[in-house]
Amino acid sequence: MKKFFVCLMVLFITASACFADELRLDRETQYQKKIMAIGFRILNANQIEQRMTFYYSPNKNVNAVTYLTSKQIAVFKGILPFLDSDDEIAAILCHEISHGIDAHKGLWRRLTMTMAPKSYELKADKRGIDLMVNAGYNPVAMIVVLNKIAEEPNWFETSSSHPNGSERLAALYEYIYTKYPAYLIDNDYKNNLYYQNFLLTSKDARKTIKEKYQKQSIKPVNNKK
Ligand SMILES: [Zn+2]
Repeated sequence: MKKFFVCLMVLFITASACFADELRLDRETQYQKKIMAIGFRILNANQIEQRMTFYYSPNKNVNAVTYLTSKQIAVFKGILPFLDSDDEIAAILCHEISHGIDAHKGLWRRLTMTMAPKSYELKADKRGIDLMVNAGYNPVAMIVVLNKIAEEPNWFETSSSHPNGSERLAALYEYIYTKYPAYLIDNDYKNNLYYQNFLLTSKDARKTIKEKYQKQSIKPVNNKK
């Protein structure tokens, strides 16, 4: 009987040692693994044949970048406190993967991306929505994330490479409204603090969008996967 308990103790200690090994992965390694797994899931689900790689960077800026020549996508430490779920991490990655797809189209495309970054930003937001839906993520997360981080300068004050936040959010809402309306009807984010704030600050823009499509008699259809 005593032997049995000794065996049990040994087993327990070995098991907890293995478990401790798992836990010993530091935070930064966990971030790297998470970002990489979501990134590759998006590439595979969308059958994207161009190669891209994903990195966690300890940079404290609130940002993520796609390096146009190396096709490396880096998610900065500074943006992580703004991301509350896999859907929100996927939103950031899908936007960057869209830049990565363009970056693969050669030197000329990379030059135009550098010269006219704002149009590529809007494109990356919209194509990012398609990439999210195809990979099984909720595209409303893109609105939620941008509402937390996008800048709001007046047009004459802006020096940024990104369009004004309200403009981006309205364009995203319109895109989801026309292409994936089911996500807005059956909205998992309806009680989300940041989504509620988007609803509050986009009343006029959303009204204009609704009127625009009522006039064109396009009705949102339920096409949620
Ligand atoms: Zn971008």
